[in-house]
Amino acid sequence: MRGGPVGSLLRVGDVFRSARNRDPEVAFIDGHPNIHHVTASERLAQIQLSKGINPIAKIKAPGGLRRPCILIRSSPWKAGTTETPWHDVFDLDNGRILYFGDHRVDHTVPVGTTQGNAVLLEALEEHQGLTAEQRALAVPLLVFAAVSRNKTPKGYVEFCGVAVIDHAEQIEQQAEGISFPNYRYELSVLDLSAEDDRVDWAWIEARGNPELSTADALKLAPRSWRQWVEQGHAAMPEVRRRAVRPPRGREPVRQSSESGRELPPQLPAPRERGASGSASRTPTESSAELMVSVLMDRLRNLRVHNRNGRQSRHKPLALLWGISRVATGRPHLAPWREFREEVGSLLAEFGLPESSVTPEYPFVHLQTSRLWDVHGLPPDLGAVAHAAAFDRLNPEGGVTEQVARLLGDPFVRSQAVAVLRETYLTDIDQHALLEQLGLAGYESAGGIEDSTEDHERETVPAARRTVTSSRVIRDTALTAKVKKLHGDRCQVCALQLSTRFGTYSEAAHIRGIGRPHNGPDEQANLLVLCPNHHVQFDTLAIYIDTEGTVRSTANNSPIGPLRKHPSHPLDEAHLRYHRALCGRDTTAHANHGGTS
Ligand SMILES: [Zn+2]
Repeated sequence: MRGGPVGSLLRVGDVFRSARNRDPEVAFIDGHPNIHHVTASERLAQIQLSKGINPIAKIKAPGGLRRPCILIRSSPWKAGTTETPWHDVFDLDNGRILYFGDHRVDHTVPVGTTQGNAVLLEALEEHQGLTAEQRALAVPLLVFAAVSRNKTPKGYVEFCGVAVIDHAEQIEQQAEGISFPNYRYELSVLDLSAEDDRVDWAWIEARGNPELSTADALKLAPRSWRQWVEQGHAAMPEVRRRAVRPPRGREPVRQSSESGRELPPQLPAPRERGASGSASRTPTESSAELMVSVLMDRLRNLRVHNRNGRQSRHKPLALLWGISRVATGRPHLAPWREFREEVGSLLAEFGLPESSVTPEYPFVHLQTSRLWDVHGLPPDLGAVAHAAAFDRLNPEGGVTEQVARLLGDPFVRSQAVAVLRETYLTDIDQHALLEQLGLAGYESAGGIEDSTEDHERETVPAARRTVTSSRVIRDTALTAKVKKLHGDRCQVCALQLSTRFGTYSEAAHIRGIGRPHNGPDEQANLLVLCPNHHVQFDTLAIYIDTEGTVRSTANNSPIGPLRKHPSHPLDEAHLRYHRALCGRDTTAHANHGGTS
């Protein structure tokens, strides 16, 4: 029997009462929805949330053995104790969680054989399934965080979403001075915006119904899960949760106004870290390395030398080279001799005129940024820029494996390129630089469209047309329709340009349809602009903030509200993508403090 106001829906951000063995008939306990009511089932046993990793038993389904789901609970209030010496890291804005397995210092069994680790390692294998059929069987992770309510730290959980395991790594942890092995899992949290941030428990129940085929159970899954099953890991940039939040300070209060709300530890605020100067103090430091906001923060705060009041470009150029290796599918580490040639020529062409070409400096000194690894140097040379020794030993260097993995996401890559361009390289020919690096297109909203007319483009790279200025999109039925809706008036300045033959406007893709952006050709991805604002939008001189205000990228000053038409809704994800290209994504914006 189910009913009441809760139904079987789990909504992200909702806090549930999760006391053990409570009557599932009761909808609310102590003012919160009863998790056992929401997940009540005639078929499945009552769920458990008492441990960190709580699998529901597998059933024998038509396609094979199928586990309905694994319920994950992160307990930040226990972190730091012998029982739970680790800190899970939640970065829900970027859809990422670092979660530690259940091996403990007092365990004598081999790592990976504890119940939780064994279950998650098995799930990882399913999540890496190569075919859609394999992935359809894969078990969903439902993630909860323990929160304090009613002055008690126990018995309440906040629902955080549905996750897939991207990666697992065996690590060494410390408890009371003793190190012990464990696993650390990198989870991707899926976007549930199509379901209004809700998961229907009926999906999990269907997965636990042996009479239902896996395909039938899949029909009840969230849209992003179905897309992931269909396309696998390649779909991740599309289906990962990316909460778009208003600028800090104006964040609406979610849910109850109760105090004592304790979400899992957020990443340390960059300014706090700088002020206290004790970054190594936080036990999450090594884990936090992975997170997008930390990556951007580090890119923004490179220690660079000043020469005559100008910033040296050695490190930013070497990092752009590192990004280009990931973007072009090459190994993230390269032998010194290759680095010397490639970054050496970048420094010669794009370094400060008075700087010498010394690639050995960024090669070794970038290690302090914690974004960069060097392998193959003896300890006494590990921090010395010694070109002759490097020539002899040929060590390997490049961005770290974790950074490379993050940069595998085109969205993160666009953001990283934007941060480096905007912070260190504003006064050089960015188009020439990015072209040389194989990153052309990252400096324009449109990207590069391969010329379809020119069949010689394989041998003639110039045939690729880089769109760095305004271009007129061929009038399709789609663009004609939006232009008509707006009466050819610019959505930024309302100008309706008259020509000898009537009014004129241009349609601009928000997320360019050319490489590397690969945006969709759809109405929600189009703006109607005058030629001037089209040029500014494409060259990233203006962007649209989360409130719908058009702003200048140079100083964030407002230009005016974006003019909207009720029949022409825009996709916030595309606007966010364009902001990221401008280096003005919400995350970056928040880190800058209230510049606007
Ligand atoms: Zn205009």
